[in-house]
Amino acid sequence: MMKNMAKFYNMTPSRFFCTQCGREGIPVQRKKGQEREGGHLKKLYCMYCKQEINHVEIRNIDINGIEQFQQEYNLGRFVDGKRIEIKDLLDCSCTTCPFNINGKCWNSNWSNDCGHRIKEGDNNE
Ligand SMILES: [Zn+2]
Repeated sequence: MMKNMAKFYNMTPSRFFCTQCGREGIPVQRKKGQEREGGHLKKLYCMYCKQEINHVEIRNIDINGIEQFQQEYNLGRFVDGKRIEIKDLLDCSCTTCPFNINGKCWNSNWSNDCGHRIKEGDNNE
């Protein structure tokens, strides 16, 4: 059914959020089959930062995508437009720290130097 609509639905819109200013950029249509995983980083021109910055891709089907991006952005997960993998994040010694997500410090950009991070070579006390 609705066979002649197939072409129209062959494009899937993705929203993009700047990893530097956190604002939403221009949406990009992806061809079906060329969609990327949610959270994929793509370099786009940010009209607020006035330069090319990595943006996080959020697809229509990523229901919590914007929330996830805002958490990553607010906690300072992005450094130079790159997201450090969770396994490579520093451990956090303070379980009540708002930047502590499952024992890992998400404040990769050091906007909050709390002193809770366990740096390598630091745990020999
Ligand atoms: Zn920006």
